[in-house]
Amino acid sequence: MCKQQSEKQTSLVIEDTLKVSTPQEVIAKLAAGNERYVNGKSIHPHCDTDRVSETAPHQAPFAAVVGCSDSRVPVELLFDQGIGDIFVIRTAGNNVNSEMVMGSVDYAIEHLNVKVLLVLGHGSCGGVTGAISESEEEHGNIGKLLGTIRNDITEYIGKTDSIDAAIRHHAHVQVERILTYPHVAEKIGNDAKRLKMAHYL
Ligand SMILES: [Zn+2]
Repeated sequence: MCKQQSEKQTSLVIEDTLKVSTPQEVIAKLAAGNERYVNGKSIHPHCDTDRVSETAPHQAPFAAVVGCSDSRVPVELLFDQGIGDIFVIRTAGNNVNSEMVMGSVDYAIEHLNVKVLLVLGHGSCGGVTGAISESEEEHGNIGKLLGTIRNDITEYIGKTDSIDAAIRHHAHVQVERILTYPHVAEKIGNDAKRLKMAHYL
């Protein structure tokens, strides 16, 4: 998965490891990495043992991503980043309506000083599909998880033919929810250079 960088890739790697100091630069870096991934040109930066040693004493990721646990959406691979680059919070269905998830978001913002917080939805999301489908209801913890997602997208219940719109709307609702927390909104509103929120599908 992560391979040593070849000589041929050196110039790309140097370009990718340039320091990012603004949210706009972080978004550009993530977009460039995603473009490499989509085009089959990933360079797998920051995956070697030097990087492990470099980041062992402390972490300083430039972005936080709230994504789905789905095995098909491994965040670092999708954005062609490596060890220590992204603080990743993953749950099935990428819903932030829990203290554990929001505590993780707060940690990324308050202690790690990430410059971008991204909510990442994805196509064919089983969490969102299960939440809006009207098939037999799940019980226990799975039922609670699906119910939490469902409560955010009630207008899509039974509309499994609109799954992409439901997934996109669900990601947007998570961004809106995060912004209801005054300490997060304040960081974005008062200092746009400090933190940016976005959602991506
Ligand atoms: Zn999913």
